[in-house]
Amino acid sequence: MFLDRDGTLIHDVGYLRRVADVSFFPWTVDAIRALGRAGLRVIVVTNQSAVARGLLSEAGLDEIHRHMSSILEAGGARIDAYYYCPHHPDGSVEPYRRLCDCRKPGRGMIDRAVQAFGLDPAGSFVVGDKWLDIALARAVGARGILVRSGYGRSEEAEPRPGLVADQVADNLAGAASWILQRLDRQSTIEHRRPVVHPQSS
Ligand SMILES: [Mg+2]
Ligand SMILES: [Zn+2]
Repeated sequence: MFLDRDGTLIHDVGYLRRVADVSFFPWTVDAIRALGRAGLRVIVVTNQSAVARGLLSEAGLDEIHRHMSSILEAGGARIDAYYYCPHHPDGSVEPYRRLCDCRKPGRGMIDRAVQAFGLDPAGSFVVGDKWLDIALARAVGARGILVRSGYGRSEEAEPRPGLVADQVADNLAGAASWILQRLDRQSTIEHRRPVVHPQSS
């Protein structure tokens, strides 16, 4: 389960730089908790060119993600890992100013997560509010779900030739329901972990 961050889990405020600007959608905690209870790994994949642009440090980005996790964990929900691309070819900060394999729709972040967690990309889902999230799903052979939160509605109004989402949902809650129904129907359940991970306290 690969989730875009801005516009999918939290409001897209442009370059998010401060913990105080993190604002979850009202359905996010419940949706992530449901996905976790179904045994899915929940992994964030997010382009954060703010780092390459000198607007935010990696430490600042980590702080934002720790803050997100603390709110989620208070609601019994959990993100297993955050993968971000700090790069941009037009960035101003030297080590980050480059072409890379991880900026979505590049597949580098998913490749790393697949290796770290032993996942099967073909049995995975990518959820996001932009076509590049769907293109990422296509690139790795996962299912792609476009959500209408964030930029989703305007993206939906501007289809990309040759790029079709497996599902379009109003938001992450709708995407999670669709995924969980599909998993229930599957006769082979090898992609589901039978053990519910314990919540850290
Ligand atoms: Mg987004
Ligand atoms: Zn990158």
